[in-house]
Amino acid sequence: AKAEGRNRVAFFEAAMQASLLHRYELEQDLRAALRLGQFELWVQAQFEGGAKMNGAEALVRWRHPVRGLVSPAEFIPIAEETGLIVPLGAWVLRSACEAIRALQGAGRSLRISVNVSARQFLEHDFIAQVREILEQSGADPSRLTLELTESVLIDSFDVVAGRMRELHALGIRFSLDDFGTGYSSLAYLKRLPLSELKIDRSFVRDVPADPEDAALVEGIIAVAHLLHLDVVAEGVETPEQQQFLRAAGCGSFQGFLLHRPQPIDDWLKDVFG
Ligand code: C2E
Ligand code: CA
Ligand code: CA
Ligand code: CA
Repeated sequence: AKAEGRNRVAFFEAAMQASLLHRYELEQDLRAALRLGQFELWVQAQFEGGAKMNGAEALVRWRHPVRGLVSPAEFIPIAEETGLIVPLGAWVLRSACEAIRALQGAGRSLRISVNVSARQFLEHDFIAQVREILEQSGADPSRLTLELTESVLIDSFDVVAGRMRELHALGIRFSLDDFGTGYSSLAYLKRLPLSELKIDRSFVRDVPADPEDAALVEGIIAVAHLLHLDVVAEGVETPEQQQFLRAAGCGSFQGFLLHRPQPIDDWLKDVFG
C-alpha cells in the first residue's frame, strides 16, 4: 500500500510537472507569437431578425507551428496573466478597424464587434490607443462595437463608466458579453453607456426544452428591453433555439446554425461577392 501511495504521489507530481511544463512552453511560445505573425483574425457573422447579416464578431486564433490551431479559451487567460493581451488586443482592434474601413470603402455598412479584456480596457492609455487606431485606419467609430464582460467592473465603477462614456462619445457602441454569467447589478447596467447585451451560450444551449433556461432567457431579454438595449444571442445551433429566441424578442443571432467562424479575408471576399 505504501508503494502504491508513493507511486500515486509520483504520478501526480509527474502530471503536475507536465501541465506546468505545458503551460510554461505555451507562455514562452505566446510571447514570440505576435512577433512571428502567428495570430489570425477570424470572424463569425451576426444576423438580424430572419437572415439579414448586420455584422460579425472578431475572434482571434493562434496558429502554433507544432500544436496547430490553439483555441483562445486556452491562450487568452495566459495572455491576460502575462500582459501580452495588451499588444495582442491592439493587434486585433487594428485588424478589425482595417476591415471596417474596407467595408466602408465598398459601401457596406456592416459592424464589427471586438472582444476587449478587462486588463486591456483598464490599461492607462487604452483610450489613446483606440483613438490612434481609429485615426490610422479611417474606420467609422459607429461601425465598431467593443464587447466587455462584467469582469471589467471589478475595478472602480466610476473609472470604467468614465472611459466607456469617453469612447461612446466618439460613436463606439458597447456590448455586455456573456451576460448573466457574472454578478453585475441592474442598477449598474443602467448607468453604463451600453447599446447591447449578449446572452451567453450556456443559457441558449438547452432552450426551448429546459423550462428554467427558457425562463432565464426570457428574463434577460425583458431586462434588455427595459434598458433599451439590443439583444444578441450567441451559440445558436438549432432552428428551434432561434425560433424560441425570436419569439421571446431577441433581435440578433450568432451561432453555428447561421455561420461558422472563418478567416476574416475569406469572409470579406464573400461579402464583396
Ligand atoms: P465569446 O466572446 O463568448 O465568443 C463566442 C465563442 O463561442 C467563440 O469561441 C465562438 O467560436 C463560439 N461559438 C459561436 N457560435 C457557436 C455555436 O453555435 N456553438 C458553439 N459550441 N460555439 C459557438 P472562440 O472563438 O473559441 O472564443 C472563445 C472566447 O475567447 C471568446 O468567447 C472570448 O471570450 C475569447 N476571445 C476570442 N477572441 C478574443 C479577442 O480577440 N480578445 C479577447 N480578449 N478575447 C477573445
Ligand atoms: Ca464575445
Ligand atoms: Ca460566451
Ligand atoms: Ca437548467
